[in-house]
Amino acid sequence: MHPHFRTIIEPFRIKTVEPIQFTTWEQRADIIEAAGYNLFLVRAENVLIDLLTDSGTGAMSSFQWAGMMQGDESYAGARSFYKFEAAAQRITGFKHIIPTHQGRAAERILFGNVCKPGYVVPNNTHFDTTRANVECQGAQALDLPCAEAHQPALIAPFKGNMDVDALTHTLQTVPRDQVPVVMLTVTNNSGGGQPVSMANIRAVSQVCHAHGVPFFLDACRFAENAFFIKQREPGYADKTALEIAQEMFSYADGCTMSAKKDGMANIGGFLALHDDDLAQRCKNTLILTEGFPTYGGLAGYDLEAIAVGLEEVLHEDYLRYRLRSIAYLGEKLDAAGVPFMKPTGGHALYLDAAAMLPHIPASHYPAQALAVALYQEGGIRSVEIGSVMFGRVHADGSEEPAALELVRLAFPRRVYTQSHVDYVAEVVTYVARLKDNLRGYRISWQPPQLRHFSAQFEPLR
Ligand SMILES: *Cc1c(COP(=O)(O)O)cnc(C)c1O
Repeated sequence: MHPHFRTIIEPFRIKTVEPIQFTTWEQRADIIEAAGYNLFLVRAENVLIDLLTDSGTGAMSSFQWAGMMQGDESYAGARSFYKFEAAAQRITGFKHIIPTHQGRAAERILFGNVCKPGYVVPNNTHFDTTRANVECQGAQALDLPCAEAHQPALIAPFKGNMDVDALTHTLQTVPRDQVPVVMLTVTNNSGGGQPVSMANIRAVSQVCHAHGVPFFLDACRFAENAFFIKQREPGYADKTALEIAQEMFSYADGCTMSAKKDGMANIGGFLALHDDDLAQRCKNTLILTEGFPTYGGLAGYDLEAIAVGLEEVLHEDYLRYRLRSIAYLGEKLDAAGVPFMKPTGGHALYLDAAAMLPHIPASHYPAQALAVALYQEGGIRSVEIGSVMFGRVHADGSEEPAALELVRLAFPRRVYTQSHVDYVAEVVTYVARLKDNLRGYRISWQPPQLRHFSAQFEPLR
């Protein structure tokens, strides 16, 4: 970068365009009503800016598409597998790289091989599929986030850290053979996309190894985490993102990875580890459920796309632009007085619906009301992360609300430009001004589990 120019630009130009669909306010009113006010049930073509998730929604580069043409679709020993393996090993240093169709398949295989009923798996904060895969083995998924993680308005550099004292206490009290693995999620997705410091990774690793417990990273956003370390942690400003990522992995015994995030691909993942015996057992499970160990449920061309993606995600122009897009939206919303979790995370901004809509009680789902309003007013799709997703329904039908009422605006990688972000800021600010007119919702139908995907809502008047 030239030292005099401070504008951070998109580090790419556009070769292929995908038109997005404009709808009128009246059309969106009909669409959202027909969807039962559930944004998961709206067709993507009726969304103008889709910030539902950053998972598998990114744009691939011309190099990735070119790589896909070279996909080797051989069942065993495909050339594409060795490219993929080399790309993952260069960053992680792990001996065994086991491809899977996405991150949760890696979790399923790992926990299926190490967990038993009654076991405990500590994590800074489990992602929902990680928790579900631990619990489905009958084990306990224990979240040990640092104290700062509980304060949405507090600005701190590494709010994704694990509480090391709480981990030490856990490892001193739970028998050694009942803690099969400790995990650290980088960045901490469920905790707001907040990074984990190198000091914390090192400290967690030391505590684990002092107690003889393997330490794994949930590495879905390892590159975003590495760049936050470069920007915020003393001693790392002059290291490359690759060197920082390599150091992060050097403290761990293995990792699970969703290539739909920092793999820059539309599908894929892997499990990686040093331990020969555990790797053999995991490969046996892989053959049962995913496929032969040199393709693991993926096409050869997917392995090519991931191999190139893992290299591109560590380009610092890309990471600077990536983190800046979210921070830029945060600056605009801050200036407009819109409440959100601070500081902004690596992949998403989380609006604080409880602070914005104090007149809507948790039992009327304020974050759902906000998410629907963003779609109704501006055609923006976000996701409710509040009492619809995490409220606990008791046997008598009563509900315990979630701790926070958030709306997540997650950014697909390399998809939207600065004017799209300006538009998002304008819509959110407009809705924040309308807030006194917003009303809550009631759930008119819900399934027994994971209700946020399919529940039907009715507006309260
Ligand atoms: C997305 C994600 C997963 C699961 O990966 P999938 O590819 O969606 O199965 C696991 N952990 C974290 C932190 C994630 O963000």
